[in-house]
Amino acid sequence: MGDKVLHYLNESPTVFFILRKIDGHWELEYVTSNVKNLYGYSAEDFLSKKVKHENFIFPEDLHQYRLEVRQISKIIKDKYTYKPYRILRDNKIVWINHILKIIYDKNGKVSHYYGYLNDITESIKNKNDLEQYLSIINNNVLLSITNKEGNIIDVSDAFCKLTNFSKNELIGKKHNIFRHPSIKDDFFKELWSTILKGYIWKGEHLNIKKDGSEIWVENTITPNFDENKNIVGFTSLYNDITDKKKIAQISITDFLTSLYNRRHFNAIFELELKRAKRDNKNFVLMILDIDFFKQYNDTYGHDKGDEVLKNISLALKDTLKRASDYIFRLGGEEFAIITSDIQYIGLVRLCNRLLKSVSDLKIEHRSSSINDFVSISIGAKIIKSNSAFSETKIFKLADNALYEAKELGRNKAVIKE
Ligand code: GH3
Ligand code: MG
Ligand code: MG
Repeated sequence: MGDKVLHYLNESPTVFFILRKIDGHWELEYVTSNVKNLYGYSAEDFLSKKVKHENFIFPEDLHQYRLEVRQISKIIKDKYTYKPYRILRDNKIVWINHILKIIYDKNGKVSHYYGYLNDITESIKNKNDLEQYLSIINNNVLLSITNKEGNIIDVSDAFCKLTNFSKNELIGKKHNIFRHPSIKDDFFKELWSTILKGYIWKGEHLNIKKDGSEIWVENTITPNFDENKNIVGFTSLYNDITDKKKIAQISITDFLTSLYNRRHFNAIFELELKRAKRDNKNFVLMILDIDFFKQYNDTYGHDKGDEVLKNISLALKDTLKRASDYIFRLGGEEFAIITSDIQYIGLVRLCNRLLKSVSDLKIEHRSSSINDFVSISIGAKIIKSNSAFSETKIFKLADNALYEAKELGRNKAVIKE
């Protein structure tokens, strides 16, 4: 062997060795000096049999290694690759990739083996890291992958656990298996048109589990492309936001009546006022108050009073038809309604329907000095889109209108333009 070649061989990360069969035994005939880097012992230590390769093999891997050694002599093949095994060097684990090239003599009998050993600890570690990483994702990340037609091709265990479906029940199915009945077709049309264009879609929506129970999810759908930039499928990444949604709902709901509460009133007041201005539409704030409610409580008791609050809340809510109408219990026996894009005459009609919805309940009120039944009074203020009034000012003006309605005899609405 030329000196130069030998030099390169000894410098290479691969340990090269030759085993030769002598009198039926395998003897180490040659090993490159870089064996020292791998095992911590020199080529001479091995050649003089001071140390043996097998002594280094990690005890748990030795059995498998010996099985393979035995089977090599039975197979007719040019090359054999061992299952990667571990050796111990300075009490540290080193992963070995071990390849044998089998050399035959003229008569076709095995004469010797050329061996190549490589330290693959780094790549094994990377592979283990990757596997560990994938396992963390599988167990913790809510993930589903579909093909272009929307048929599920993979889901994470975490997603199965959340939805109570098994993987088998989901593979091949479409996502409408989770569709909540309240979600309109338009919602999915918009979603599909976004992702089919190759854009990411993000949104919050309800899903149903296998047993029909509801979950709120935050969903990010990313298109997957092939190398020619064609969409091949989609990856959905979810967050379970059910608890967040429940807490958010509780925090804006009045406990007794289930209407929105004062806190939400403040938020919606600001938002809707801005929106009406931006859309160049007028804005209306109405304040509603039960007439002689103190006397009602005094006459019938507080519990009966609470019943009345609940029934009136339902009646008022049922009277409002538009999605942009909001009703709140501000506190006590006082309510607010926010609406927009309505003219004076329309508002008169709405007020009359609200007054009627309460009087139609025919809740007896014998201590009311104006009526035999429970009634309400309404103060309403219309705000033009070019108005610069603050929320406080608008509230005051609506409250003044309510005061006027009370002064004028109650069971009435006063509307201020
Ligand atoms: P007006 O026609 O001028 O509005 O007279 P009123 O008696 O309704 O007015 P006032 O504001 O003096 O009384 C409001 C009463 O509403 C006081 C209280 O007895 C009653 N009330 C407030 N909150 C509740 C509640 O949560 N439950 C019950 N049952 N009654 C309430
Ligand atoms: Mg009051
Ligand atoms: Mg009152």
